[in-house]
Amino acid sequence: MPDSSARPPRAPWDPPSRRDRARRPAPRRRSRGPLVALLAAAVVVVVAVIAMASGGGGGRPASHRAARASVAHHPLAAARHAARAASHPALVPPASPAPRTVRVPILMYHRVHAYATELTKSLPDLTVEPPVFAAEMTALQQAGYRSITVAQLFGALFHGAPLPPKPVLISADDGYLDDLTQMLPVLEAHHMTAVFFIITGRFHEPGFLTASQVRRLDADGMDIGAHTRSHVDLPGIGAAALADQVAGSRDDLQRLLGHPVAAFAYPAGRFDDASVAAVRQAGFALAVTTQPGEQESSTQPLLMPRVRVGRSMTPQGLLSCLASGGGC
Ligand SMILES: [Zn+2]
Repeated sequence: MPDSSARPPRAPWDPPSRRDRARRPAPRRRSRGPLVALLAAAVVVVVAVIAMASGGGGGRPASHRAARASVAHHPLAAARHAARAASHPALVPPASPAPRTVRVPILMYHRVHAYATELTKSLPDLTVEPPVFAAEMTALQQAGYRSITVAQLFGALFHGAPLPPKPVLISADDGYLDDLTQMLPVLEAHHMTAVFFIITGRFHEPGFLTASQVRRLDADGMDIGAHTRSHVDLPGIGAAALADQVAGSRDDLQRLLGHPVAAFAYPAGRFDDASVAAVRQAGFALAVTTQPGEQESSTQPLLMPRVRVGRSMTPQGLLSCLASGGGC
């Protein structure tokens, strides 16, 4: 799939491409007759004149031009990095948060894919048909729900920041390619946002997002959360493996995205005291389980319940579920 965001923009005055153009006449000069050689030489002169007139340093040795390009690109990369970090400040909960509860259903999706082509997969009940997902987003919107970000939920929980009426946080686990191909277009068409929980050891597995595709979701304004490195059940795996899976996956994503990552999802919803402590120790501010519910509390920010949205759910059923407390 084309992924334009993975390629840094190339300035029109980029020296390498101009060198390529200048070199092009050389083989023609060798393989054709003197007339062609004359024409080719003329092209070289014209290209060189245009290059120098444009101020790109076309007459300088290649090493000098490379040095100029390097100097020119590093500040831009640094600026982009700083902009990403500035737009995603670290979410650090207060040491003693005031007890506060907000009603924010966190919808839990997995796959959004045509089930007919997914018969070999092991998530039959968690594979939502793409038209059903689109209908669910439309139903939410028409019923007055507004999707919020992880930072908005954090602000509401810990600082009492106002939320839109009928807030909802949309989440999807595991980092399937569906996130980009099926969910993102629908979310953007509805002006909605979501958090995608990524397994950082699966960037190269078929059916999962690559690293550059995760960056694309992030660049498009979606939230990215961690879902461990290899999706193991966390209870009982030992301190070293726990740190590798939890803190390691946060490190992976922060290196990839260039900004802090605040949210975590427990694989298969399984956790114990040690895994919750590891999530806190790793610096996550919020973590979600698979326990049903839609009341989120500042006193349990690492054990937030979710509303499971599976294959058997209908758009109307989703609205009824949310209206009844999310315990469906
Ligand atoms: Zn999972």
